[in-house]
Amino acid sequence: MGTSPTPALFVSHGAPSLVIEDVPARSFLARLGPSLGPLKAILAVSAHWETESPTASAAQLPATIHDFGGFPAELYAMRYPAPGAPWLADRVAALLEDAGLRAYVDPERGLDHGAWVPLKLMLPEAAVPVTQLSIQPQLGPAHAHRVGQALRPLRDEGVLVLASGSATHDLRAVFGHSLAAATPDWVSRFADWVADAVEGGRTDALLRYRDLAPNARRNHPTEEHLLPLFTALGAGTPGVPGKRIHASTTYGALAMDAYAFA
Ligand code: ZN
Repeated sequence: MGTSPTPALFVSHGAPSLVIEDVPARSFLARLGPSLGPLKAILAVSAHWETESPTASAAQLPATIHDFGGFPAELYAMRYPAPGAPWLADRVAALLEDAGLRAYVDPERGLDHGAWVPLKLMLPEAAVPVTQLSIQPQLGPAHAHRVGQALRPLRDEGVLVLASGSATHDLRAVFGHSLAAATPDWVSRFADWVADAVEGGRTDALLRYRDLAPNARRNHPTEEHLLPLFTALGAGTPGVPGKRIHASTTYGALAMDAYAFA
């Protein structure tokens, strides 16, 4: 497609109610979508689809999955009716197999809120074909990074790799707090450590974040919401550090940071 590759993105999708909440992360995503230029398709790597091996959806018309409970009724009525991209699922599986990773295609999987919440804000017209790729929490950051490296050619083919998770994700620290609660120090220190490592090009340190970053296990009791970051990182151009393109928090402890890997 165009002359410069599409950047790979990591976005924090927050609570599903982000789609209706008036917070900086929501307006950031609304500005981000139109800034991307024409896209042929989107590969959404969502923290909410866990499988043993990487799996891409070949659904022709992916259903909107409301994979959450206890939120306002308005959220359950929302749809993201983008066309699917079965050809992209096949392309993704081929790229992963070429890289020595066993990959699968799922004929039916729809779009979970990790994919459709940010996309509804970024590209509300739902005109660009979308498919999802699963994550493998049991295989850790190095595997997620390898998946991203294998997907790098997609960026030259007009495909947006949109990795969706959360910069911090200790939900026990989130419940009971107001949307605009103050950010605890242990959250901002971790989020800033990640930003410094990304912008300093310290990939090896990032892959060992669980041992090196301050309060890593407290901010990510389980890893699944950070793993998409490593896939976006892997899809970036080697030697070109990524950039933190948004930083904010919701509910005090839920960092909404976003990154671009050009
Ligand atoms: Zn989530």
